[in-house]
Amino acid sequence: MRFDTRVVHEGQPPDPLTGAVNVPVYLTSTYVQTAPNRNRGYAYSRTGNPTRAALEAALAGLESGAAGFAFSSGMGAITTLLDDLPAGSRVLAGEDLYGGTFRLLEHRRKMGTLRPVFEDFRDLGRVRAALASEPTALVLAESPTNPLLQLCDLAAIARVAHRHGARVAVDNTFATPVLQRPIELGADYVVHSLTKYLGGHSDLVGGAIVVRDPAAAERVGWLQNALGAVPGPLDCYLVLRGLKTLGIRMARHSENGRAVAEFLARSPKVARVHYPGLPGHPQYALARRQMSAPGGMLSCELKGGVPAARRLLRRLRIFLLAESLGGVESLVDHPATMTHASIPRAERQRRGVSDGLLRFSCGIEDPRDLIEDLRGALKGI
Ligand SMILES: *Cc1c(COP(=O)(O)O)cnc(C)c1O
Repeated sequence: MRFDTRVVHEGQPPDPLTGAVNVPVYLTSTYVQTAPNRNRGYAYSRTGNPTRAALEAALAGLESGAAGFAFSSGMGAITTLLDDLPAGSRVLAGEDLYGGTFRLLEHRRKMGTLRPVFEDFRDLGRVRAALASEPTALVLAESPTNPLLQLCDLAAIARVAHRHGARVAVDNTFATPVLQRPIELGADYVVHSLTKYLGGHSDLVGGAIVVRDPAAAERVGWLQNALGAVPGPLDCYLVLRGLKTLGIRMARHSENGRAVAEFLARSPKVARVHYPGLPGHPQYALARRQMSAPGGMLSCELKGGVPAARRLLRRLRIFLLAESLGGVESLVDHPATMTHASIPRAERQRRGVSDGLLRFSCGIEDPRDLIEDLRGALKGI
């Protein structure tokens, strides 16, 4: 079966009991037992729930992993993944990282439980040197990154990491398995914020881990139950429903992302556009090799800096000013004061996240309306 067919059917066969074409929402915390500790596979809904199991099977299938695990948020998934590391482990993470992930790693450093180090993952030589300098337990990569849309060569990083005995986790939230499948490129874990493209409708918060090998599945499953950051069945159902349209949504998100990026790149008021689908992107060739399409996320800097960015935000009508991304509706974000405010300003600027940077999540609206919205707003600044 081809991928767009699998997103509709993976993990979601008709209900064997009734023939219902949708996975039933099992709103239950517990399950009756035939004798003490004798049950039909489910005993308590933190440990397992049939609606969640269907979602986990779907995610494992789509990401080509041995098993999937769903969580109450993307951060719940990453917290659980980090909890699998022995105290004092070194974690090598990409420098341009989701703000919440950076905050969590810094928290673990302060508590003395992990030793995170950050490196520019665009440069394989630096990744190699960082891995050669000290034993590392986990390499944590994002590609494309948030908010600068930088890419890293996931297959090459996995090869180098494995040579040094490190495991590799890839946060695939921006790309989704439609555009890129890290486990097929050598990663050991894929993590997701289901809140974004996989849910796709800005109506839930959720997360996931998909693991490559069965031994890791056992450990992550144990931790999922022990730590307890699990989603409710209704949220799991909403993600299952979102998954069915993931193929066509990602195609439209990518089309709209490209149209908006090309429009902004032509505007005399825009200084720089970060979008992996533009031939001027420094990793355009890698994007074409590693991803099936460039996606719906982009960011830009205006020539007028912060004041111009503020004026533009006030004038936009269709692009809603909001945190988050990946929904059917287009959103705009000011990373310095919103999604990335948890990174100290000096550190942000060193990484190239200027105070005037704007991040766009292009939805699935008619691209002509998105461009008219931007054209009208840019006129006034
Ligand atoms: C949003 C996001 C997260 C965190 O997910 P939540 O569901 O908000 O907890 C992690 N990584 C990336 C890339 C994200 O965009």
